[in-house]
Amino acid sequence: MTTVSAVLFDRDGTLVADVPYNGDPGRVRLLPGAAEAVALARSQGLATGVVSNQSGIGRGLLTVEQVRAVDARADALLGGLDVWVFCPHAPDAGCGCRKPRPGLIHTAAERLGVPAAACLVIGDIAADVLAARAAGAQGVLVPNAATAPAEVRRFAGRSAPDPLTAVRTALGLTAGEVIPGSAGDGTPRGPGAADGRPGSPAAKDVAPGSPSTGNVVPVSPGPGGVTVRRSPS
Ligand SMILES: [Mg+2]
Ligand SMILES: [Zn+2]
Repeated sequence: MTTVSAVLFDRDGTLVADVPYNGDPGRVRLLPGAAEAVALARSQGLATGVVSNQSGIGRGLLTVEQVRAVDARADALLGGLDVWVFCPHAPDAGCGCRKPRPGLIHTAAERLGVPAAACLVIGDIAADVLAARAAGAQGVLVPNAATAPAEVRRFAGRSAPDPLTAVRTALGLTAGEVIPGSAGDGTPRGPGAADGRPGSPAAKDVAPGSPSTGNVVPVSPGPGGVTVRRSPS
C-alpha cells in the first residue's frame, strides 16, 4: 500500500451531520470521531483537507459565501485543516469536480503538494470512494444510517465505522495506541506545532487554476472554491 501523506475527508455525513443544503454555520455539528480523526492525522504529520460536493450552489439554494461560512465553522470546530475544496456545480453540469469524478481530489492534492496516490479519502457514500479510485487515491467508506445498503455492501471490505478508525487503520495503528510525538490523547499536533495553528481560519480563498493570491470567489458554474491554510512556518 502506498504511503499516506494526506487525508481528505468528505464533509457532510462524514465530518459534520448532514443538513441538506445547509447555509447556516450555527447548524454545524461534528460527527463522532471527526475531530479525533483530524487530530490524529495532524499528529502524524499528515496534511488534511476536505473535498465536498455542494450542488446547492448550482441549484440556486446556497451562495458561495454561505458554503464558506459553514466550512469556516466546521474548520474551527475541527481544529483546522489545511485545505477546503468544494464543487459548486449542479449534478447535470457535467463538471469534472463533482464526486465521483476526481477533480476535487486532484485539486486538493495539488494544493497540498502531494501526489493524489498518497491521499486517503474518507467519505460516507460510494461517490467518495469512487472519486478516490478515479484519482488514483485510496478510498474508505464510513457509512452512516443514510448510506445506501447496496453501497455499504459494495465497499464492505473498504470501510470503517468512523473517521478516526479509518485513519488509524490506514496508518497501521491500533485503538488506544499512544502516538509518538503527541500527547496520546488526541491533542492536535505534536512537537513544533503548538506554536502555531491560528484559532480561526487564516485562510486564503483561491480558485483552482488561478494565481495563488487574491480572493477569487468562484461563480457557478465556474471552478470549485478552495481555501488553503498556510502553515505559519
Ligand atoms: Mg457525504
Ligand atoms: Zn464541479
